[in-house]
Formats: sequence, structure tokens, C-alpha cells
Amino acid sequence: MRLPDLKFSEPKTYFHEEAYLCKHQKILIFQTMKHHSIAELLKGNQAWVAHQQQADPTYFQKLATGQTPPYLYIGCSDSRLPLTKFTQTEPGEMFVHRNIANQVCLTDINFLSVLEYAIAHLHVQHIIVCGHYYCGGIQAAFEGTTTGVVDSWVNPIRELYLQHEEEISQLPTRQAKLNRLAELNVEAQVKNLYQTSIMRQVLREDHAPEVHGWLLDLHSGLIKDLNVSTEAWQLYPSCLTANLLLTER
Ligand SMILES: [Zn+2]
Repeated sequence: MRLPDLKFSEPKTYFHEEAYLCKHQKILIFQTMKHHSIAELLKGNQAWVAHQQQADPTYFQKLATGQTPPYLYIGCSDSRLPLTKFTQTEPGEMFVHRNIANQVCLTDINFLSVLEYAIAHLHVQHIIVCGHYYCGGIQAAFEGTTTGVVDSWVNPIRELYLQHEEEISQLPTRQAKLNRLAELNVEAQVKNLYQTSIMRQVLREDHAPEVHGWLLDLHSGLIKDLNVSTEAWQLYPSCLTANLLLTER
């Protein structure tokens, strides 16, 4: 497939080809990239600031007063899916934590501090765990060929795959298998979320944010709600009873 000629007229635009070579199919994704240098990024910033100020001269004054985002978004670091873009949300609306393959890691102090701050200080009303199809982290875990630190990072997904190998192996295509593993991964991360200390605490106190497990399909751009939220996934569901017993004494 022939790429269009590079255009250097303003705004600078060219196409970046990213190819995913699969066993049974080849998917080519073309991304329109507006900025291909640091100078262009800064220029883009200045243009955006000018546009915002024209629309609302107090926009940045209001932004500087603080944040009360209703959403915490836990997503993949993949450059193709800033959820703010896909949901048309503005700066100040989403508190964000991203890592490879949107892991809710119970020993990750970075993630745990983001979660605690979002719940205890920002009082977010919703937590969105959002995975995506065509995820490199899922693919790496599925194939088991990654090396280095990333291999350790995606190992829980590899374990998940092995746990569900019988179900996944029955799917007709490699992409269907990867998609299913991406869904199972979101489900597992939502489950992990309910096992964090801060979530168990706010569930006990009956003011926990709503949890949502989403999958973003990069092929269509649409978000799929997996409806996997359930408080039954608390690690110690009996803690409610235990707490009551302690109170009664
Ligand atoms: Zn990803």
C-alpha cells in the first residue's frame, strides 16, 4: 500500500504506518500525526492556548483554581487511546493513571497512591478501568515472547491466559483470542481494584465510587461496557459482618 507524499505545508501532516503482523491477518493502521518535532509540539500548544482564550478568556484562570474530577481513568499507556479524546472530556474532568495493559497492581505504589488520592481527596464518583483491543501488552502476554522488565509486568496477563486457555483456544481466530484475553484482563483488573485497602474501606463506609470495566475498540473507536462491576469481588466480603460484630462488642 502506497503512503501519501509528505506534506510540509501548514499544518504539517504526514501519515505514520503501524503494522500488526498477525498469523492469519495483517492489519494496517494509519495514524494522522500533526506534530513530528518538539518545535511543532510547542507551536501546537501556543495555537491551542490562543484558541481556548478566544473561546473563553477566563479558561486558564478557572483551570488553575484546582480540580474536582468526577472520574478516575485507569488505562493502557498506548499512545492511541487518550480516553479524554474518545469521550470528548476536557482538562479537569479525568484523573488518570496509565501503564502497559492497564494493570491494577496491588504492589504498585504509584498506582495505589493515585487511587487513594482519587478516592480519599478528590472524591471521584466513578472509576473506569479501560482496556483496549489491539493491545501490545495483551499480545506480548499471549505470545510469551517478551523479554526484560515488560515480561515481568505482563506476566499476570500470561497467568490469566493460562487459566482460561481452554475457553480462549476454542475461539476461531487469533484476533478473537486476543480480544477475549483483553476482556478477561479488564475483568481481572476490576476484581483487583475491589481488593485494594482503600476500596474495601470506602465500601465498608458505603461511599465507594462506581466501578466500570470498559474495552475500547480501536478498529471502530467505540467503547464497550463489559458490565463487570460487582462489590461481590471484595477480597474479604465477610469484613462487613466482622465490622458489625466488632461494633456490637
Ligand atoms: Zn495497550
